[in-house]
Amino acid sequence: MKEWRLLDAGHMTAAQNMAMDDTLLELKGAQKTPDTIRFLQFYPSAVLIGYHQSVQEEIRESYCLEKGIEINRRITGGGAIFFDENQIGWEIICDKSFFNMEIPNQRLFRILCEPVINALGQMGINAAFRPRNDIEIKGRKISGTGGTESDRAFFFQGTLLVDFDVDTMLKSLKIPVEKLRAKEIDSVKERVTCLNWELGYTPSSEEIKSAIVKGFEECLNIKLIASGLTKDEETLFSKKIRYYSSPEWIEMVKPKQAGKEALQAASKVENGLIRFTITVDSARNRIQDIYITGDFLSFPGRALYDLESALKNKPFSRDELFKIVEGFFREGRITIPGISPEEFFKPLEIVFEKAAIGAEYGIPPEVCNQISVTNGSFKEVIAAEPSVLLLPYCAKDLACDLRHAKECLWCGACTVGRAWELGLERGLDVRCVSSFEDLLSELESIRQLGEKAFIGCCCQPFFTKHVNDFEKAGVPGILLNIDNTTCYELDQAKQAYKGNFNSQTHINIDLLETVFNVIDEYRAKGAA
Ligand code: SF4
Ligand code: SF4
Repeated sequence: MKEWRLLDAGHMTAAQNMAMDDTLLELKGAQKTPDTIRFLQFYPSAVLIGYHQSVQEEIRESYCLEKGIEINRRITGGGAIFFDENQIGWEIICDKSFFNMEIPNQRLFRILCEPVINALGQMGINAAFRPRNDIEIKGRKISGTGGTESDRAFFFQGTLLVDFDVDTMLKSLKIPVEKLRAKEIDSVKERVTCLNWELGYTPSSEEIKSAIVKGFEECLNIKLIASGLTKDEETLFSKKIRYYSSPEWIEMVKPKQAGKEALQAASKVENGLIRFTITVDSARNRIQDIYITGDFLSFPGRALYDLESALKNKPFSRDELFKIVEGFFREGRITIPGISPEEFFKPLEIVFEKAAIGAEYGIPPEVCNQISVTNGSFKEVIAAEPSVLLLPYCAKDLACDLRHAKECLWCGACTVGRAWELGLERGLDVRCVSSFEDLLSELESIRQLGEKAFIGCCCQPFFTKHVNDFEKAGVPGILLNIDNTTCYELDQAKQAYKGNFNSQTHINIDLLETVFNVIDEYRAKGAA
């Protein structure tokens, strides 16, 4: 039986933990450190984005600053997580040859989750592996994992939710609502769980750690011996802390810096969320800047940045870009477990659609980013001459007697009134949507009545989440983003779907007018 080191330095800051991860990975890659299982804990609390994510897209920075929650970036991919002092992380840092199989692969992820599933079993909890790389209890996630590699070393880490402060997590992370779509589950409490909720009490750290140690020893057939850092590790670790505390590391990915000219699109495929932010040099029709972010795991560590470099300065052409992406996947220069080149390319297709809207109608990129289309291109929907305008009840004044009604008397107290007026001026049939069921029946009635197309206003997360429902309804439409905090951000989607969202959004009147101007011009041309 092989002996491995058990390393447990207790609570550390986010920068110390990240510096420690990199130290262990680097020295293991150079064969200068033992195979190790490490526990990690954080003090102060921290939010950690995945290697391919950006702080601006994932984290509510001002809230974290106010509450003293540290922000940092992991050396592994995956989604952003909130790590308060109660949670326990576990890591495997070992020689790649130990597992004797290709890295990464789905079977290995399962093997690496087994020890923690075993530990949960010792505590009387029946947990199971959930592909791609999570551990769940009756469908609710209790542990997420991620990994990376360097030279001869493999690094895999996971979190175990011990006690869970949903409220602080929701306030510190911007949860990408696209993530909810796959399972149609809206509330965080229905998607995750923790030891405290399962057991009715919080086990001590010692109890949890000793169950995990036993789990690793049994499942990997190793003997864990507790010890500290080697001299080499101590030296390298103290050198790395400064870098892992720096904006150079934490803010390494900055798609928002791409500015107003950037086109953005996201797509949630089964195994991850992929987001492209692209600036096109329109004079040369070439990609000027490109950022690919998301919560996926990619191997090797730098592959995504190499892909971004390969796409930069290339002609903004669907075929050319797909050829490069597909080549990277085919030649094994990038591996993203569970995501195909076609799925990876999906958000780029949406970027092309937005670029086409900008080029055809002179609409600036930041406005195109607020527009989505269903059952046709923007141009096709305009040509179909939309005859119905759908407005969401959540944009109505909270005190309005008609908040939950289909009508509006356009009294001027909220943006629904102005939007209603603009629709009527153009002869559109304007209706308010009072719940999710009501939306489905509106779309069905639009289809049955043979209306050719519609314009709708809703938050972009709602459209992304229900893109398939809109497609199924079969009516061409343009969906315009609305302003203000959505029900998803407030974790009130369930109530909102029934028509009971108790906060107010606003119709983006400028955006609506931009699209109506395009329709007016189209009609004028037709009449001429
Ligand atoms: S504009 Fe319409 S929805 Fe808004 S407060 Fe007036 S009547 Fe109510
Ligand atoms: S904020 Fe909620 S209620 Fe309003 S459009 Fe979005 S999903 Fe619907």
